[in-house]
Amino acid sequence: MPLGPAAKLGVEASALQRLQRLGLIEIREKVQGRSRRTQRVIAWKGSPAATEPTSKKSEENLNAETQSSQRNRREERIRELLETERGPLPLPQLLQLAAVTRAVIERMLRDGLLESWEEPIDPAEDPFDAGFTPPAHELNAEQESALKAIRARFELGEFGVQLLHGVTGSGKTEVYLRAVQETLARGKMALVLVPEIALTLWIGRQCRSWFGARFEGVAVLHSALSDVERAREWWRVRNGEARVVVGTRSAVFAPLENIGLIIVDEEQENSYKQEETPRYHGRDVAIVRAKMEGALALLGSATPSMETYHHAREGKYELLTLASRVADRSLASVEIVDLREDFQQSHNTSPISAALHAGIQECLANGTQALVLINRRGYSWSVLCRSCGASVQCVNCSISMTHHKQRNRLECHYCGSIQAIPKVCPKCQSKYVYFFGEGSEHLEERLRKEFPGARIARLDRDTARTKRQYQETLGAFAGGALDILVGTQMLAKGHDFQRVTLVGVISADSSLSLPDFRAAERTFQLLTQVAGRAGRGELKGRVLIQTFYPEHYAIQDAVRQDYSAFFERELHFRRMMAYPPFTSLANVIVRDVTLEKAIRWSRQLSEYFSPHDDKGVRILGPATAPLARLKKEHRFQFLLKSPKRSVLTKLLSGALAYCEANEIPDTAVLVDMDPLSLL
Ligand SMILES: [Zn+2]
Ligand SMILES: [Zn+2]
Repeated sequence: MPLGPAAKLGVEASALQRLQRLGLIEIREKVQGRSRRTQRVIAWKGSPAATEPTSKKSEENLNAETQSSQRNRREERIRELLETERGPLPLPQLLQLAAVTRAVIERMLRDGLLESWEEPIDPAEDPFDAGFTPPAHELNAEQESALKAIRARFELGEFGVQLLHGVTGSGKTEVYLRAVQETLARGKMALVLVPEIALTLWIGRQCRSWFGARFEGVAVLHSALSDVERAREWWRVRNGEARVVVGTRSAVFAPLENIGLIIVDEEQENSYKQEETPRYHGRDVAIVRAKMEGALALLGSATPSMETYHHAREGKYELLTLASRVADRSLASVEIVDLREDFQQSHNTSPISAALHAGIQECLANGTQALVLINRRGYSWSVLCRSCGASVQCVNCSISMTHHKQRNRLECHYCGSIQAIPKVCPKCQSKYVYFFGEGSEHLEERLRKEFPGARIARLDRDTARTKRQYQETLGAFAGGALDILVGTQMLAKGHDFQRVTLVGVISADSSLSLPDFRAAERTFQLLTQVAGRAGRGELKGRVLIQTFYPEHYAIQDAVRQDYSAFFERELHFRRMMAYPPFTSLANVIVRDVTLEKAIRWSRQLSEYFSPHDDKGVRILGPATAPLARLKKEHRFQFLLKSPKRSVLTKLLSGALAYCEANEIPDTAVLVDMDPLSLL
């Protein structure tokens, strides 16, 4: 322990505390921490007129011209990397990607072509996750008019919410950065929330290069920081050293004062919702905070949540639209593969349809790359008995066990329990057990069989157990050492692979068939996101979506990438079924390891709820929860719907008081306001 302030001053600690209570002194904590490990980050500074420096002794030197053109090519490559492909990069990565020596960079720094700064080494850094095209310094007409609307809001100087709806690749980041710039110019602070850690780093770096390397005013806050780092960043914000805070969900509580702008990027992302107590939604808190501060909340998305878009349409939020991609890059063409037809024609039992097979073949022939998405991991996701129809269930949860072939066992994806692969049916002892439903492990095996010469890798939670494994696979793919990458949803986000011309989705149906009112919205969002992965570079992209339900509007509208058509239809469904955004929803789960207690408590709670039913609230339940048993606990569910949120919150706080009075333990009752999922 280092000496405390009292010991250093040679007085009693209690004396200092007394002085502090009297307000005579202030005690500040200083974070010491181990010496800060930093790395140098290089950014392009812009192109001064002297981009073609001429060598003074060149007349007599025959090689001078070739040398200088070589030099220009190198500089051009570095400019491309830093300005249009990746954005600012740590020095080692830049050296590797540009294949130049350190001396080249040093010279360009001296010539003023580049600038650099030191930044802490981030354990969460993913060198290939810089999968976002750096913002251009010039705005197109749509971006310009969005910015104009933002400026107009600033002029009003009062609370407001704007939704920036921009298709994938439409350049929302440019607009964000300008909005931050405007905020700073008005002497206010800005808070930027992003859905994942990799993005905090990237946006933080963009701010640096945008506002100049000397701009120290960016703090980054996310859960992967060490305690020391987090405390340091927190104090920088608290002491007013940072004027821009970039962070994930909990950064919404950053101790920033004089806030003028709060940005919530990809506002529809589930990661903004904290699923543990205290449950909160980062986006909703951001709006409340903006209201308290009289600031502007700017929500951005390619596929806004139904709630947010509804508010925008009703005029509660102002809608700003970016309808085209920057540089007029076309969206990838999206095609449906009807699996019913495919089966009739080929009697093929492979998860890879004839069309997808041909598409991959074409990629291999052209030397481009393919991404293949499947949203289940493992080998088969169900083990069934042919005689009695029983499936092998987890002992703790009412869910089928997933077969993992390489690990040679069954695993539960909800609680992690493990079982040996049964030789006979556990129920009727028949020998006819079979494996059903393909997972990513199975798909990888199929691809290897169907494309024997191809270089294939798989990316899911089983193969990417560590950040390093994850990086290695993505790195190999980005570097062209792989032809096909198979994986789960992990692949759908963010990555900007320039040579991917084909994205295959094995089944659009698995997310569609979930017993959840958001199933269509999720499916539409996922497919739109996936479609955004193809054709990011110069090459044209193609997306193949395999499905048994090609008629479903979530799939049809995703194919046309028509958000507003999807929104209209989904809104109609929500209105009919009285789901959000037309009602507020709460999910109350009663749970216990003993079935008897879970039943008793849900009956008791039902006694409290039932007199309120149909008095401004619709109460459904108690019913067995869709996941009737989870981690050894039996679960019952109430679903509460009300057009008035206040009625719902009042009823719920009453319910909690009732539980306390009736000795129902608070661990047994789980209240989820605005649930993202009803499972
Ligand atoms: Zn059986
Ligand atoms: Zn389980």
